[in-house]
Amino acid sequence: MKMGTLLLHNGHETDPQSGALSVPVIQASTFDQGDLSSPVEFDYSRSGNPTRRALEEIIAVLEGGAFGGALGGGVKGFAFGSGIAAISSALGIFAAGDHIIAGEALYGGSYRILNTFYKRWGLELSAVDTTDPDTIRRAIKPNTKAVFLETPSNPLLKITDLKACLDIAKEAGLISIVDNTFMTPYLQRPLEFGADIVVHSATKFLGGHSDVISGLAVTRTEELGRRVYAVQNGFGAVPGPWDAWLVMRGIKTLKVRMDAQEAAAQKLARWLQTHPLVSQVFYPGLPEHPGAETHAAQASGAGAVLSFKTRKTEQALRFLGKTELTASAVSLGGVETIASYPIRMSHAAMPPAERERLGITDTLIRLSIGLEDPDDLIADFDNALR
Ligand SMILES: *Cc1c(COP(=O)(O)O)cnc(C)c1O
Repeated sequence: MKMGTLLLHNGHETDPQSGALSVPVIQASTFDQGDLSSPVEFDYSRSGNPTRRALEEIIAVLEGGAFGGALGGGVKGFAFGSGIAAISSALGIFAAGDHIIAGEALYGGSYRILNTFYKRWGLELSAVDTTDPDTIRRAIKPNTKAVFLETPSNPLLKITDLKACLDIAKEAGLISIVDNTFMTPYLQRPLEFGADIVVHSATKFLGGHSDVISGLAVTRTEELGRRVYAVQNGFGAVPGPWDAWLVMRGIKTLKVRMDAQEAAAQKLARWLQTHPLVSQVFYPGLPEHPGAETHAAQASGAGAVLSFKTRKTEQALRFLGKTELTASAVSLGGVETIASYPIRMSHAAMPPAERERLGITDTLIRLSIGLEDPDDLIADFDNALR
Protein backbone atom coordinates (compact mmCIF):
# COMPACT_ATOMS: atom_id res chain seq x y z
CA MET A 1 0.00 0.00 0.00
CA LYS A 2 1.09 3.56 -0.63
CA MET A 3 1.42 5.93 2.35
CA GLY A 4 -1.79 7.80 1.48
CA THR A 5 -3.78 4.56 1.83
CA LEU A 6 -1.87 3.45 4.91
CA LEU A 7 -2.92 6.66 6.69
CA LEU A 8 -6.49 5.27 6.55
CA HIS A 9 -6.00 1.50 6.44
CA ASN A 10 -3.56 0.70 9.22
CA GLY A 11 -5.37 -1.83 11.39
CA HIS A 12 -7.70 0.60 13.13
CA GLU A 13 -10.18 1.52 10.40
CA THR A 14 -13.07 -0.16 12.22
CA ASP A 15 -13.61 -0.96 15.88
CA PRO A 16 -13.84 -4.78 16.14
CA GLN A 17 -16.46 -4.59 18.93
CA SER A 18 -18.97 -2.11 17.57
CA GLY A 19 -18.04 -1.81 13.91
CA ALA A 20 -17.60 1.96 14.39
CA LEU A 21 -15.47 3.73 11.76
CA SER A 22 -13.66 5.56 14.54
CA VAL A 23 -11.59 4.32 17.46
CA PRO A 24 -13.71 4.53 20.65
CA VAL A 25 -12.50 6.94 23.33
CA ILE A 26 -12.04 4.80 26.43
CA GLN A 27 -12.17 7.38 29.20
CA ALA A 28 -11.15 5.08 32.05
CA SER A 29 -8.31 5.05 34.55
CA THR A 30 -8.60 1.42 35.63
CA PHE A 31 -9.83 -1.93 34.28
CA ASP A 32 -11.47 -5.00 35.87
CA GLN A 33 -8.91 -7.75 36.34
CA GLY A 34 -11.51 -10.41 37.27
CA ASP A 35 -10.32 -13.28 39.45
CA LEU A 36 -6.66 -12.51 38.56
CA SER A 37 -6.26 -16.02 37.11
CA SER A 38 -5.01 -14.73 33.75
CA PRO A 39 -3.17 -11.55 32.73
CA VAL A 40 -5.35 -8.78 31.27
CA GLU A 41 -4.33 -6.55 28.36
CA PHE A 42 -5.14 -3.33 30.21
CA ASP A 43 -4.98 -2.76 33.96
CA TYR A 44 -4.33 0.97 34.46
CA SER A 45 -4.32 3.77 31.87
CA ARG A 46 -0.85 5.11 32.66
CA SER A 47 0.48 1.66 31.74
CA GLY A 48 -1.82 1.26 28.75
CA ASN A 49 -5.13 2.52 27.40
CA PRO A 50 -7.01 1.09 24.39
CA THR A 51 -7.45 4.47 22.64
CA ARG A 52 -3.82 5.40 23.17
CA ARG A 53 -2.75 1.89 22.10
CA ALA A 54 -4.52 2.38 18.74
CA LEU A 55 -2.52 5.56 18.08
CA GLU A 56 0.69 3.80 19.15
CA GLU A 57 0.03 0.96 16.70
CA ILE A 58 -0.82 3.40 13.90
CA ILE A 59 2.39 5.44 14.23
CA ALA A 60 4.44 2.21 14.32
CA VAL A 61 2.80 1.08 11.06
CA LEU A 62 3.36 4.49 9.43
CA GLU A 63 7.00 4.95 10.48
CA GLY A 64 7.70 1.28 9.70
CA GLY A 65 6.30 1.93 6.23
CA ALA A 66 3.93 -1.07 6.38
CA PHE A 67 2.43 -3.71 8.64
CA GLY A 68 5.41 -5.37 10.27
CA GLY A 69 6.77 -5.58 6.73
CA ALA A 70 10.21 -4.49 5.69
CA LEU A 71 11.47 -3.88 9.23
CA GLY A 72 10.44 -7.28 10.52
CA GLY A 73 7.53 -6.41 12.78
CA GLY A 74 9.61 -5.31 15.76
CA VAL A 75 8.71 -1.63 15.33
CA LYS A 76 6.90 -0.26 18.41
CA GLY A 77 5.04 3.03 18.91
CA PHE A 78 4.51 5.10 22.07
CA ALA A 79 2.32 8.14 22.67
CA PHE A 80 3.08 10.98 25.09
CA GLY A 81 1.48 14.13 26.43
CA SER A 82 3.66 16.38 24.22
CA GLY A 83 6.51 16.22 21.73
CA ILE A 84 8.92 17.22 24.46
CA ALA A 85 7.54 14.45 26.70
CA ALA A 86 8.27 11.96 23.90
CA ILE A 87 11.80 13.34 23.45
CA SER A 88 12.55 13.49 27.21
CA SER A 89 11.25 9.96 27.64
CA ALA A 90 13.35 8.63 24.74
CA LEU A 91 16.40 10.31 26.29
CA GLY A 92 15.42 8.73 29.59
CA ILE A 93 16.81 5.37 28.44
CA PHE A 94 20.36 6.71 28.93
CA ALA A 95 22.37 6.84 32.14
CA ALA A 96 24.60 9.31 33.97
CA GLY A 97 28.00 9.49 32.31
CA ASP A 98 26.64 8.76 28.81
CA HIS A 99 27.60 11.20 26.04
CA ILE A 100 25.14 12.31 23.34
CA ILE A 101 25.99 14.01 20.05
CA ALA A 102 23.19 16.26 18.83
CA GLY A 103 22.62 18.60 15.92
CA GLU A 104 23.27 22.21 16.94
CA ALA A 105 20.06 23.27 15.15
CA LEU A 106 17.87 20.93 17.21
CA TYR A 107 14.42 22.16 18.29
CA GLY A 108 14.98 24.70 21.11
CA GLY A 109 13.09 22.69 23.71
CA SER A 110 15.13 19.55 22.98
CA TYR A 111 18.33 21.52 23.35
CA ARG A 112 17.06 23.02 26.62
CA ILE A 113 16.16 19.68 28.22
CA LEU A 114 19.60 18.28 27.28
CA ASN A 115 21.41 21.39 28.50
CA THR A 116 19.58 21.76 31.80
CA PHE A 117 17.66 18.78 33.17
CA TYR A 118 19.70 15.97 31.63
CA LYS A 119 22.96 17.80 32.23
CA ARG A 120 22.10 17.90 35.96
CA TRP A 121 21.45 14.16 35.77
CA GLY A 122 24.85 13.51 34.22
CA LEU A 123 24.26 13.27 30.47
CA GLU A 124 27.07 14.88 28.46
CA LEU A 125 26.17 16.78 25.29
CA SER A 126 28.15 17.79 22.21
CA ALA A 127 26.26 19.99 19.74
CA VAL A 128 27.64 19.76 16.21
CA ASP A 129 26.71 20.92 12.70
CA THR A 130 25.22 17.70 11.33
CA THR A 131 24.95 19.15 7.79
CA ASP A 132 28.55 17.86 7.71
CA PRO A 133 28.31 14.19 8.83
CA ASP A 134 32.03 14.12 9.61
CA THR A 135 31.40 16.40 12.61
CA ILE A 136 29.65 13.41 14.20
CA ARG A 137 32.60 11.10 13.59
CA ARG A 138 34.95 13.66 15.13
CA ALA A 139 32.77 14.11 18.24
CA ILE A 140 32.62 10.41 19.16
CA LYS A 141 34.21 9.61 22.54
CA PRO A 142 34.55 6.34 24.49
CA ASN A 143 31.36 7.15 26.46
CA THR A 144 29.27 8.25 23.44
CA LYS A 145 25.97 6.36 23.40
CA ALA A 146 23.69 8.25 21.02
CA VAL A 147 23.26 10.62 18.09
CA PHE A 148 20.22 12.93 17.97
CA LEU A 149 19.31 14.42 14.56
CA GLU A 150 16.61 16.64 13.12
CA THR A 151 16.08 17.38 9.41
CA PRO A 152 15.01 19.80 8.00
CA SER A 153 16.17 22.05 10.84
CA ASN A 154 14.29 24.90 12.42
CA PRO A 155 14.14 27.77 11.39
CA LEU A 156 16.61 27.72 8.45
CA LEU A 157 15.56 24.35 6.96
CA LYS A 158 19.12 23.03 6.86
CA ILE A 159 19.31 19.46 5.62
CA THR A 160 21.16 16.62 7.35
CA ASP A 161 22.05 13.56 5.28
CA LEU A 162 20.26 10.85 7.24
CA LYS A 163 21.92 7.84 5.62
CA ALA A 164 25.45 9.26 5.98
CA CYS A 165 24.94 10.20 9.65
CA LEU A 166 23.08 7.01 10.58
CA ASP A 167 25.79 4.87 8.96
CA ILE A 168 28.39 6.60 11.15
CA ALA A 169 26.22 6.01 14.23
CA LYS A 170 25.70 2.34 13.38
CA GLU A 171 29.38 1.74 12.71
CA ALA A 172 30.22 3.21 16.14
CA GLY A 173 27.47 1.17 17.85
CA LEU A 174 25.46 4.26 18.83
CA ILE A 175 21.69 4.53 19.26
CA SER A 176 20.30 7.07 16.79
CA ILE A 177 17.28 9.30 17.44
CA VAL A 178 15.65 11.37 14.70
CA ASP A 179 13.04 14.10 15.26
CA ASN A 180 10.72 13.69 12.23
CA THR A 181 8.18 16.40 13.16
CA PHE A 182 8.64 18.65 10.11
CA MET A 183 8.23 15.82 7.58
CA THR A 184 5.90 13.25 9.21
CA PRO A 185 6.07 9.61 8.04
CA TYR A 186 4.05 10.62 4.98
CA LEU A 187 7.14 12.37 3.54
CA GLN A 188 10.14 10.84 5.36
CA ARG A 189 10.72 7.61 7.30
CA PRO A 190 14.06 7.69 9.15
CA LEU A 191 13.82 4.01 10.21
CA GLU A 192 14.30 3.09 6.55
CA PHE A 193 17.71 4.82 6.66
CA GLY A 194 18.74 3.00 9.83
CA ALA A 195 17.42 5.20 12.67
CA ASP A 196 16.74 3.40 15.96
CA ILE A 197 14.19 5.80 17.47
CA VAL A 198 11.96 8.35 15.72
CA VAL A 199 10.30 11.09 17.78
CA HIS A 200 7.50 13.50 16.90
CA SER A 201 5.66 16.49 18.11
CA ALA A 202 2.20 15.28 17.03
CA THR A 203 1.06 18.79 17.95
CA LYS A 204 2.21 19.88 14.48
CA PHE A 205 1.31 18.23 11.13
CA LEU A 206 0.04 14.91 12.52
CA GLY A 207 -2.60 16.58 14.71
CA GLY A 208 -2.76 19.28 12.08
CA HIS A 209 -5.47 21.58 13.48
CA SER A 210 -3.73 23.60 16.22
CA ASP A 211 -5.99 21.99 18.81
CA VAL A 212 -3.90 19.39 20.66
CA ILE A 213 -0.49 19.00 22.32
CA SER A 214 0.85 15.49 21.80
CA GLY A 215 4.01 13.50 21.12
CA LEU A 216 5.05 10.13 19.72
CA ALA A 217 8.09 7.87 19.71
CA VAL A 218 8.77 4.82 17.54
CA THR A 219 11.50 2.25 18.13
CA ARG A 220 13.06 0.02 15.49
CA THR A 221 13.30 -3.05 17.75
CA GLU A 222 11.29 -4.66 20.53
CA GLU A 223 14.32 -4.45 22.80
CA LEU A 224 14.50 -0.65 22.47
CA GLY A 225 10.71 -0.62 22.74
CA ARG A 226 10.91 -2.27 26.15
CA ARG A 227 13.38 0.39 27.32
CA VAL A 228 11.22 3.27 26.10
CA TYR A 229 8.11 1.61 27.56
CA ALA A 230 9.79 1.41 30.97
CA VAL A 231 10.27 5.20 30.85
CA GLN A 232 6.77 5.85 29.47
CA ASN A 233 5.21 3.84 32.29
CA GLY A 234 7.72 4.99 34.91
CA PHE A 235 7.75 8.73 34.16
CA GLY A 236 4.10 8.62 33.15
CA ALA A 237 4.14 11.49 30.62
CA VAL A 238 1.19 9.92 28.78
CA PRO A 239 -1.66 11.58 26.83
CA GLY A 240 -5.31 11.24 27.73
CA PRO A 241 -7.55 9.25 25.37
CA TRP A 242 -9.21 12.33 23.85
CA ASP A 243 -5.87 13.78 22.82
CA ALA A 244 -4.84 10.43 21.32
CA TRP A 245 -8.15 10.39 19.42
CA LEU A 246 -7.60 13.92 18.06
CA VAL A 247 -4.19 12.91 16.70
CA MET A 248 -5.71 9.82 15.03
CA ARG A 249 -8.37 12.01 13.48
CA GLY A 250 -5.66 14.36 12.19
CA ILE A 251 -3.66 11.50 10.68
CA LYS A 252 -6.63 10.50 8.48
CA THR A 253 -6.35 13.73 6.46
CA LEU A 254 -2.56 14.11 6.57
CA LYS A 255 -2.09 13.34 2.86
CA VAL A 256 -4.51 15.94 1.51
CA ARG A 257 -3.37 18.57 4.00
CA MET A 258 0.33 18.00 3.39
CA ASP A 259 -0.07 17.83 -0.41
CA ALA A 260 -2.02 21.10 -0.54
CA GLN A 261 0.10 22.92 2.05
CA GLU A 262 3.31 21.83 0.34
CA ALA A 263 2.09 22.95 -3.09
CA ALA A 264 1.20 26.33 -1.60
CA ALA A 265 4.56 26.57 0.21
CA GLN A 266 6.36 25.87 -3.05
CA LYS A 267 4.40 28.65 -4.77
CA LEU A 268 4.99 31.10 -1.89
CA ALA A 269 8.72 30.30 -1.79
CA ARG A 270 9.07 31.02 -5.50
CA TRP A 271 7.07 34.23 -5.18
CA LEU A 272 9.06 35.44 -2.14
CA GLN A 273 12.29 34.93 -4.13
CA THR A 274 11.09 37.52 -6.64
CA HIS A 275 10.00 40.10 -4.03
CA PRO A 276 12.15 43.26 -3.91
CA LEU A 277 11.98 43.52 -0.10
CA VAL A 278 13.02 39.88 0.47
CA SER A 279 16.73 39.10 0.53
CA GLN A 280 16.77 35.32 1.04
CA VAL A 281 14.34 32.38 1.04
CA PHE A 282 14.98 29.06 2.78
CA TYR A 283 12.95 26.10 1.51
CA PRO A 284 14.27 22.63 0.61
CA GLY A 285 11.87 22.52 -2.36
CA LEU A 286 13.88 25.23 -4.15
CA PRO A 287 16.59 23.71 -6.37
CA GLU A 288 18.98 26.48 -5.19
CA HIS A 289 18.66 25.32 -1.56
CA PRO A 290 22.04 23.88 -0.52
CA GLY A 291 20.42 20.70 0.83
CA ALA A 292 17.82 20.24 -1.91
CA GLU A 293 19.43 17.20 -3.51
CA THR A 294 20.08 15.41 -0.21
CA HIS A 295 16.55 16.18 0.94
CA ALA A 296 15.02 14.85 -2.29
CA ALA A 297 16.94 11.60 -1.83
CA GLN A 298 15.50 10.96 1.64
CA ALA A 299 12.03 12.56 1.59
CA SER A 300 9.21 12.52 -0.94
CA GLY A 301 8.38 16.22 -0.52
CA ALA A 302 9.67 19.49 0.86
CA GLY A 303 6.88 20.04 3.40
CA ALA A 304 5.07 23.25 4.26
CA VAL A 305 7.56 25.18 6.42
CA LEU A 306 9.81 27.83 4.94
CA SER A 307 11.57 30.94 6.11
CA PHE A 308 12.76 34.20 4.58
CA LYS A 309 14.76 37.29 5.41
CA THR A 310 13.63 40.81 4.68
CA ARG A 311 16.18 43.45 3.74
CA LYS A 312 15.60 45.51 6.90
CA THR A 313 14.45 44.71 10.46
CA GLU A 314 11.47 47.06 10.28
CA GLN A 315 10.18 45.23 7.19
CA ALA A 316 10.06 41.95 9.14
CA LEU A 317 8.25 43.56 12.07
CA ARG A 318 5.84 45.35 9.73
CA PHE A 319 5.09 42.05 7.97
CA LEU A 320 4.17 40.40 11.28
CA GLY A 321 1.96 43.30 12.28
CA LYS A 322 0.23 43.82 8.95
CA THR A 323 -0.59 40.36 7.59
CA GLU A 324 -4.29 39.69 7.87
CA LEU A 325 -4.35 36.01 6.95
CA THR A 326 -1.62 34.78 9.28
CA ALA A 327 -1.35 34.67 13.03
CA SER A 328 1.96 35.73 14.61
CA ALA A 329 2.44 32.69 16.77
CA VAL A 330 4.66 29.79 17.70
CA SER A 331 3.95 26.27 16.39
CA LEU A 332 3.48 25.00 12.85
CA GLY A 333 1.73 22.32 10.83
CA GLY A 334 -1.85 23.52 11.36
CA VAL A 335 -4.48 24.19 8.70
CA GLU A 336 -3.99 27.94 9.15
CA THR A 337 -0.87 29.84 8.09
CA ILE A 338 1.32 30.91 11.00
CA ALA A 339 4.20 33.39 10.87
CA SER A 340 6.74 33.23 13.64
CA TYR A 341 9.64 35.47 14.58
CA PRO A 342 12.38 33.10 15.77
CA ILE A 343 14.56 35.64 17.63
CA ARG A 344 11.62 36.55 19.87
CA MET A 345 9.95 33.12 19.98
CA SER A 346 11.65 29.72 19.44
CA HIS A 347 15.21 31.10 19.74
CA ALA A 348 14.67 33.89 22.29
CA ALA A 349 16.70 32.05 24.92
CA MET A 350 19.70 31.58 22.62
CA PRO A 351 22.62 33.99 23.24
CA PRO A 352 22.60 36.70 20.49
CA ALA A 353 26.14 35.86 19.35
CA GLU A 354 25.16 32.21 18.89
CA ARG A 355 22.03 33.23 16.94
CA GLU A 356 24.14 35.45 14.71
CA ARG A 357 26.59 32.60 14.08
CA LEU A 358 23.72 30.33 13.00
CA GLY A 359 22.15 33.03 10.77
CA ILE A 360 19.06 33.54 12.93
CA THR A 361 18.76 37.31 12.49
CA ASP A 362 16.17 39.97 13.33
CA THR A 363 15.09 39.99 9.66
CA LEU A 364 14.16 36.28 9.69
CA ILE A 365 10.54 35.12 9.57
CA ARG A 366 9.40 31.49 9.56
CA LEU A 367 6.18 30.53 7.84
CA SER A 368 4.07 27.42 8.23
CA ILE A 369 1.77 27.49 5.22
CA GLY A 370 -1.82 26.39 5.79
CA LEU A 371 -4.79 25.63 3.58
CA GLU A 372 -5.70 29.16 2.50
CA ASP A 373 -5.70 29.83 -1.24
CA PRO A 374 -2.04 30.64 -2.03
CA ASP A 375 -3.08 33.57 -4.25
CA ASP A 376 -4.77 35.21 -1.26
CA LEU A 377 -1.64 34.63 0.83
CA ILE A 378 0.50 36.23 -1.89
CA ALA A 379 -1.72 39.31 -2.04
CA ASP A 380 -1.76 39.59 1.76
CA PHE A 381 2.02 39.09 2.11
CA ASP A 382 2.76 41.63 -0.60
CA ASN A 383 0.55 44.16 1.13
CA ALA A 384 2.09 43.43 4.53
CA LEU A 385 5.67 43.69 3.25
CA ARG A 386 5.01 47.01 1.54
C1 LIG B 1 7.18 21.60 18.48
C2 LIG B 1 8.33 20.70 18.31
C3 LIG B 1 8.77 19.88 19.36
C4 LIG B 1 8.13 19.89 20.73
O1 LIG B 1 6.83 19.42 20.70
P1 LIG B 1 5.69 19.87 21.75
O2 LIG B 1 4.51 19.13 21.26
O3 LIG B 1 5.59 21.36 21.64
O4 LIG B 1 6.16 19.45 23.09
C5 LIG B 1 9.83 19.03 19.11
N1 LIG B 1 10.46 19.01 17.93
C6 LIG B 1 10.09 19.81 16.90
C7 LIG B 1 10.83 19.75 15.62
C8 LIG B 1 9.02 20.67 17.06
O5 LIG B 1 8.65 21.48 16.05
